[in-house]
Amino acid sequence: MKRLRWVLIILLLAIAGAWLALPGIVESRFNRVVQALPNHVSAQAEELHSKLIVADLHGDSLLWGRNLLRRSSRGHIDLPRLAEGNVAIQAFTVVTTSPRGLNIYKNSDSSDLVRYIAIFEGWPPRTWSSPKQRALYQAARLASFAARSRGRLVIIRSRAELQQFLTSRGNHEVAGFLGTEGAQPLEGDLRNLDDLYAAGFRMMAPTHFTDTAIAGAAAGVNKGGLTDLGRQWVRAMESRHMIIDLAHASPATLRDVTTMAARPLLVSHTGVKGTCDNPRNLSDDELRAVARAGGVIGIGLWETATCGRDAAATARAIRYAAKIVGVDHVALGSDFDGSVTTPFDAAGWPLLTEALLKEGFTEDEVRKVMGENTVRMLLETLP
Ligand SMILES: [Zn+2]
Repeated sequence: MKRLRWVLIILLLAIAGAWLALPGIVESRFNRVVQALPNHVSAQAEELHSKLIVADLHGDSLLWGRNLLRRSSRGHIDLPRLAEGNVAIQAFTVVTTSPRGLNIYKNSDSSDLVRYIAIFEGWPPRTWSSPKQRALYQAARLASFAARSRGRLVIIRSRAELQQFLTSRGNHEVAGFLGTEGAQPLEGDLRNLDDLYAAGFRMMAPTHFTDTAIAGAAAGVNKGGLTDLGRQWVRAMESRHMIIDLAHASPATLRDVTTMAARPLLVSHTGVKGTCDNPRNLSDDELRAVARAGGVIGIGLWETATCGRDAAATARAIRYAAKIVGVDHVALGSDFDGSVTTPFDAAGWPLLTEALLKEGFTEDEVRKVMGENTVRMLLETLP
């Protein structure tokens, strides 16, 4: 009897341990770095990088259970690593659904892995079946990190807050802003936009990997354009000064939105077909359409975006985009913590500064790409 009790206790402890360890094990499988390099760069790159305003348009870090205030050996983003990489502005984009067997060609929304993440990470039950609640929960996590950061992390929701941050930025201070990957948190009802706005969201993409009630996705089943609701959504986003993010949009959606948009928009994380030809990346005409709408294009770090595994591959994609639309429309969109392998984590941005210099960009151009273009865009678009 006594022995049975001990067996049961050990069994329960093992289950509890596995439950606690599981999110970490899952994350270390999904968010990797090619090779943990010392981030050594030339003196010129280091000097230049230390003076940059670095802005990254895309990071999915709120999906994983980590305390972002502490340095972790997992994933890509946390406050200490952002500080080390001299990042000033970091977009925190929330993922609220994710189909099984994720791929860049065709995904249906009949399965959803975020439900399991929500359950295993101990998110409140209201999030288990609601993309909107998952978005609000992740926004609350960011707010809680900011509140506990002693001023090292602030959340920006308006141009006044951004301006204030830039003029008074001390050492190692980061501004975060909230976006969503896809319009799933709307749950098909535009009235939900107000709750998301109130929670601090200022950027939203019409789609993630699957088609939504708003629009077709590049990797969706039908890959259509904007729906009637989608057209209303564009107007609703613009009237609130929320930023439309066309990453993951189908070619038809990108065409429809850039045609009707009256305000600047962006593509938060992508590659270009010119250096890496696959359905996830933008064609030359798509780059031109986004730039014509006054937008910026965030070039990514992962292999599907760049067809490479180092900073030089991202620098080549940036060079190509700049050749097509001009350097003023090119920015950074790492996709850190987005279930991708990247050449470096948030501490390693100096490696990209160095790669851009090697690619022949001037220091002024490096400044623009690494962050000034994003700052300009945010100051034009935020409320
Ligand atoms: Zn994405």
